[in-house]
Amino acid sequence: MIRFENVTKRYSEGRAALHNVSFELPSGEFAFLTGHSGAGKSTLLKLIALIERPTRGHVFVDGRNIERLVPRQVPQHRQKIGIVFQDNKLLENRPALDNVALPLVIAGFSRREIARRTRAALDQVGLLNKADTAPRRLSAGEQQRAEILKVLFHEPEVLLLDEPTAGLSAKETNGMTDKIAELSEKRTILIVAVSYTHLTLPTS
Ligand code: ADP
Repeated sequence: MIRFENVTKRYSEGRAALHNVSFELPSGEFAFLTGHSGAGKSTLLKLIALIERPTRGHVFVDGRNIERLVPRQVPQHRQKIGIVFQDNKLLENRPALDNVALPLVIAGFSRREIARRTRAALDQVGLLNKADTAPRRLSAGEQQRAEILKVLFHEPEVLLLDEPTAGLSAKETNGMTDKIAELSEKRTILIVAVSYTHLTLPTS
């Protein structure tokens, strides 16, 4: 469950990025967060992940006011949250497969198990033939799909995707939309932020 109670976020003296926002998303929810560029979508996702803190109001995740978490509880909270921004964070000096596999390496899986799981995941999103490719040689869509797979290997309860279809071709957008629909069946909560300019409405 995610609940915002009268949340205002002001970065500096200027206009508030978010003003008095209240909503509740129960577990199992798949939500689109739409708005123009600059509407505060990324800010809202960052407040959930504790990357930013509200100026006023409260954010609750699983019934807990996340500002009240003591420092040692913050990493535990962040572990629950998977967040993928537009500017992906793949390591440039490692091929796609190594990047996606990183959480499994950290979790201590055997090399064989890591290879099996990573290849199966890459295959699922049409990236198996790019397993040995460096991130800079992947398209924006391919990089983002790899980034999403990597985040999924952390098994987050809450998955936050910031404009996952921005800058993608129509074909890549379709692939990504299918993948997101599939993810929504497995995550506790999935929030997808989309700018109006990037929102592709079905034609039929
Ligand atoms: P969106 O994701 O909908 O494009 P953002 O949450 O990125 O919107 O931004 C909302 C507003 O907050 C914008 O006016 C933006 O300029 C401002 N903003 C975002 N991040 C910062 C920051 N780190 N410092 C100052 N202003 C920021």
